[in-house]
Amino acid sequence: MTGLQTSDDDLYVFGDEQGEDAASDGARAAARAWKILIVDDEPDVHHATMFALQGVLVQGRHLSFLHAYSAREASELLATVDDIAVILLDVVMEREDAGLALVHHIRNELKLTDTRIVLRTGQPGYAPELEAIRDYDINDYRTKSELTRSKLFAVVTAAVRSYEQICTITASRRGLELIVRSSAELMGLHGMRVFAEGVITQIAALLGINAEGVVCAHEESAGGRLVVVAGAGRYGEYVNLPVSDLADQRIRASLTRCLLERRTFNEEGCTTLFFSGDAMPDVAAFLDMPQALSEVDRNLLEVFCTNISMGLQNVVLFERLHNFAYYDQLSKLSNRMRFVNLIDERMAWSADSGDTLALLDIAGFASINDSLGHQFGDQLLCAVGQMLADGLGQGCEVARVGPDVFGVLGPDAVVQPSRIRQLFDVPLAVAGQSLPVQVSIGLVRLSESGGAGSDTLKDANIALKRAKSGPRGEHYYFTRELGLQIRERLTLMQALQSAFDQQRLLLFYQPQIDLSTGQMIGMEALMRWRSDEGRWIPPDQFIPIAESSGLIVDLGCWALRTACHELARLERLGLSGLRMSVNVSVGQFRSPRLREDLAAALRDSGVAPSQLELEITESVAMDEPEALIRIIDDIKAMGVKIAMDDFGTGYSSLSYLQRLHIDRLKIDRSFVSPVNGSSRAHRIAEMVIQLGHSLGLTVIAEGVEDTQQAETLARMGCHQAQGWLYAKAMPADELESWIRSRLAARA
Ligand code: C2E
Ligand code: CA
Ligand code: CA
Repeated sequence: MTGLQTSDDDLYVFGDEQGEDAASDGARAAARAWKILIVDDEPDVHHATMFALQGVLVQGRHLSFLHAYSAREASELLATVDDIAVILLDVVMEREDAGLALVHHIRNELKLTDTRIVLRTGQPGYAPELEAIRDYDINDYRTKSELTRSKLFAVVTAAVRSYEQICTITASRRGLELIVRSSAELMGLHGMRVFAEGVITQIAALLGINAEGVVCAHEESAGGRLVVVAGAGRYGEYVNLPVSDLADQRIRASLTRCLLERRTFNEEGCTTLFFSGDAMPDVAAFLDMPQALSEVDRNLLEVFCTNISMGLQNVVLFERLHNFAYYDQLSKLSNRMRFVNLIDERMAWSADSGDTLALLDIAGFASINDSLGHQFGDQLLCAVGQMLADGLGQGCEVARVGPDVFGVLGPDAVVQPSRIRQLFDVPLAVAGQSLPVQVSIGLVRLSESGGAGSDTLKDANIALKRAKSGPRGEHYYFTRELGLQIRERLTLMQALQSAFDQQRLLLFYQPQIDLSTGQMIGMEALMRWRSDEGRWIPPDQFIPIAESSGLIVDLGCWALRTACHELARLERLGLSGLRMSVNVSVGQFRSPRLREDLAAALRDSGVAPSQLELEITESVAMDEPEALIRIIDDIKAMGVKIAMDDFGTGYSSLSYLQRLHIDRLKIDRSFVSPVNGSSRAHRIAEMVIQLGHSLGLTVIAEGVEDTQQAETLARMGCHQAQGWLYAKAMPADELESWIRSRLAARA
């Protein structure tokens, strides 16, 4: 214990000889006393030094002494005891250079740079080199005889004061570094609560104390009440409590006062810090402070508070943005964005999580909104959201992903059409009214989807669309096969669009023949698509896709123009008097653009309207008869002819057909191919021909492949024919030579 004895102002009183009370008093004084380490191999020197410095106060603090009798002992002691202010060091001890070697060790090995060192030597002549004094930051060098009591007093006082200054500078520097580091860390924290917790731990680290404290703020979600948003240490359980409910009267008072006076203040045993929220709510932190704060610490806290206030504003702003970005402001449920993240989380958790995603669409919401008002509509949405959240229970996430579409994510067993529908069995209470609500449900099991959250949501949406296309209150499950089909269609659609853009679509032409004369009377334009790899994609595949994507309008317009120009070219070559038939899809036929496109194609090519015919299918004729009659009459008024394609496959009534002012009936090839037998199809072909006759229409048969078919049809009274018997559809230049060789053969 030799080296560790400390004494207070009384030279001869040692710690282990003190009484109980005196010991604790002494300990407190010792804690604040400047520690002076005497290193000397002569015990007398120790005694003399302590005697000389007896009762000395520096900056209001006593001195306490530590003793080492060799350099080795000293270095052991220095490794364990902190905050030694001054070392009075004998130069010559075990060895001649023991003192200087110790200085080297202190500065370079132990890295104690703040501690002041005063070298003492017995005899003059043992002075260290001047460089050593400078390099090792030695405060003073004196011979022992030189150190009279007053001299020693002066030297030690100066050294202690210098130590204090160095410490202050070091502390501020370290503190500022800590502030910069902790600010950077705090800025990275999102969310008021995490941030507030961070503030407590960072302050504790800054001041080197345990994290014991609370942070409070006025919270909007708590009706603007002052609420504890974070608590550390023994205050952990205070989180979420209103400050007014806190048992500790002192904390209550301090926090309230801090926010009222908008300033930081220190009291015995605690400090209360103010963080200005500026436009945001202010924040106050209460922290236990076991020791009074030093001047440096107070200044540092001030800097910390202003610095952190800025971060706080960021956090609050971020929270607001976050709230706007991830929550539906009306229903307070998660919005689409957050819902997608939630799906992603579940998927990441396990590929086969056993969860189902359902989308619910409120049937007839638009009309409810219109008839009962938007406010009622809003209340209805909130009621539905609340009912779903309550009814489906804990393991399910409910979100509002569209104006009147809710998303539900949860275990397969819970997220089921029957379970969901049960919830809607009871009419909803909205604004004092009882309203029966029906929903269409689109579902997808996460295991069937396997894409990212946003893809899964799309899949559920596809299922929802299918459900909605049925009667009210239907449901539909998305399947993997359906997904594949849709993806294939999508790829094809994109390829078709780019083929069209790059003018890789072609028109082929198939001749039409008069059955009585054998003469060519015209041709049908048929679209062809050759893919990048040189594969021919049949129109039966790509036309439906173009129709469903709306691309058909552009495609059709192009076909119309190209066909007209081809006809004009043939006319110029002297192959005149032919008619061009162009197929027109439903979407195209209903498009208001059709008339303009038609007029432009005729005008630009110079083709006579009567030479152009539009082929519409019976399915076009099926819906909205009045509208169709009007469109046909409009087109007829332009002088353009109309043919009814695929006739016999639909269900048009005779009376209806009479009202459609068409020019030609085209018997579908499914009735033409079996025409040789005596089957039912044979009879249909015959009936269609007779129907055409009775309506005064020209009848043309398509898909005629052999002479027998041609002869039979002719016998039945069919006027015209088209099919492989004569020619397949071919490119324009081939068509031209086909016509020429046919003319030559017949001449
Ligand atoms: P569609 O209008 O009924 O066209 C007749 C189809 O029968 C054509 O098929 C033609 O190549 C084929 N065909 C002609 N003669 C014979 C034959 O003797 N035997 C057999 N087995 N088939 C024959 P394609 O060119 O594959 O066209 C299929 C369908 O695609 C067309 O049926 C039409 O609905 C649609 N389509 C083709 N081009 C266009 C277009 O430019 N616009 C629109 N909207 N649809 C088009
Ligand atoms: Ca056709
Ligand atoms: Ca046809």
